[in-house]
Amino acid sequence: MSLSNWKSDKKLIERMSKAIRSGSVSHAYIIEGDSCVDKEAFALDFLKAICCEKAPGEGCSDEAEEEKCLNCRRIDHGNCEDLYIVRAEGTTTKSVKDDAVLKLQENLKKKPAGSRNMAVICNADTMTKRAQNRLLKTLEEPNPGTVIILLSENRENLLDTIKSRCIFYRLSGGENTDMESLKDANRLVDALIEGEKFFELKQLLAKSVKSREDAFRMLDGMERIYRNLLLEKDPRGRLLKKENVFRAVQLIEEARRDLIMNVNYNYVLKNLMLKIGG
Ligand SMILES: [Zn+2]
Repeated sequence: MSLSNWKSDKKLIERMSKAIRSGSVSHAYIIEGDSCVDKEAFALDFLKAICCEKAPGEGCSDEAEEEKCLNCRRIDHGNCEDLYIVRAEGTTTKSVKDDAVLKLQENLKKKPAGSRNMAVICNADTMTKRAQNRLLKTLEEPNPGTVIILLSENRENLLDTIKSRCIFYRLSGGENTDMESLKDANRLVDALIEGEKFFELKQLLAKSVKSREDAFRMLDGMERIYRNLLLEKDPRGRLLKKENVFRAVQLIEEARRDLIMNVNYNYVLKNLMLKIGG
């Protein structure tokens, strides 16, 4: 794809394109979005827009493969030697570890084949403190032309010193958000507000959450609903004490962290129901 093919966040993407076209490319970005937004795909499109030879700020689209510029084609085919992707590792607890950042740094020291070295750190918000402190050195003194993109669902897990060195973009996902999962989340929140028995809540969960991905979507949906309750955009908010809604948002964020840490999704959601309901 190219940047303009993204259906959601049109205004934000326009701003990003404009910045690239005017030559202001930062050396570091945090791109944040819910788990249902394909942030990695977006980051690759963003990098295409940065290094595209035919349509700077936009990137070559998929329509005519043979007309794509070399840079875009390499990124699309996953064989761009100037691009290094870091992913969270681990069997029980997934995180981006210190030695992964060390390898990244070694790669960023190489002379790029094209005009710049690029890196994407997926699940950057799972980076260990040690890894973050190591990355900080690179963010403080990057080689000219380097672009590092940190993908995150919750930047609160990142050190302030890292956040302050990155341009921050938040993708809402907009139309990409699954409406069905929002409906499921709504039903669950209704049941919680009405003080339904744990047994009923468990039944609702069993119907709508059948995988870890579903669980992420459920949490994203619930968080959005509770935040709206907090902002009084939702009339149900009047039925609740503000501090309880605020606590629910915090509990949802905790539950998401547990999911990222690979805790069993059934356990995470049931535990959340007990905590919010209780
Ligand atoms: Zn291109």
